Amino acid sequence: MFIDFVVFLFGLIIGSFLNVCIYRIPIGKSIVFPGSHCPKCGNKIAFYDNIPLLSFIILRGKCRKCGERISFRYPLVELLNGILFLILYREFFLSPTFFLFLVISDILLVLGFIDLDHRILPHPLNFGGLFISLLFAPYNVLIYSQRVFGYKVLSLFGISTKSIYPSIYVTSFFGCLMGSFLFIIVALFFYLVKKIEGLGHGDIILIGFIGALVGPALVFYVISFGGIIGALVGIYLIVFKKKDKMYELPFGTFLSGAAIFFILIGMRIVVRYI
Ligand SMILES: [Zn+2]
Repeated sequence: MFIDFVVFLFGLIIGSFLNVCIYRIPIGKSIVFPGSHCPKCGNKIAFYDNIPLLSFIILRGKCRKCGERISFRYPLVELLNGILFLILYREFFLSPTFFLFLVISDILLVLGFIDLDHRILPHPLNFGGLFISLLFAPYNVLIYSQRVFGYKVLSLFGISTKSIYPSIYVTSFFGCLMGSFLFIIVALFFYLVKKIEGLGHGDIILIGFIGALVGPALVFYVISFGGIIGALVGIYLIVFKKKDKMYELPFGTFLSGAAIFFILIGMRIVVRYI
């Protein structure tokens, strides 16, 4: 119980930092300096007014100095991250996998909210996530359990993989190729047939990152799940909010959300799959 509480608290504090990342990375500001300040009056926020969740409740969602409303999003992101850390801990305990998934889910969370706000997926986050996923694949239980799948797919193409069969890195890299290859085909379809940019290159890099993270089998789950949620939200917006058919959805948000969901429950699916 005590460790649960500490992990949750740690999640809240990191969540507070993620808010800073979501707000500052897309507008090109440093995430370290200066310290937190009110976007309206510029008042520097004191440490006792910067406690995750609690300060929002105590200040009733307003700046202490000028009374400007503070977005409900801040405590929401903190709470989400606290819950995320807690579930990850319950699932993987204090293993290397736990720490790997902690870092990766937070990158996905930041990417998801930035895409929601600005319809962009910054390269440093996308490529950083891809790099970490590939490099630390040996600690990734999802990749580890999908080696067999990677081997079978490769042998379909007549590639003898006896020598590289045990390589975790090959499986992770194959997940990356599977995801981005599928998206490149979809992007080409939109570009050649419909003459529009249906999928941004940010989405293609993101799904490559997610593929390297969840592996060649689960990447299809993430795409399907993210796609279905995206389609439902799209239909809702067109029918009830009278949005145009060409309204641009934050697809990266749905993909990131789906990827985090499959980090949390992926092992249960892989075990059944095999
Ligand atoms: Zn203020």
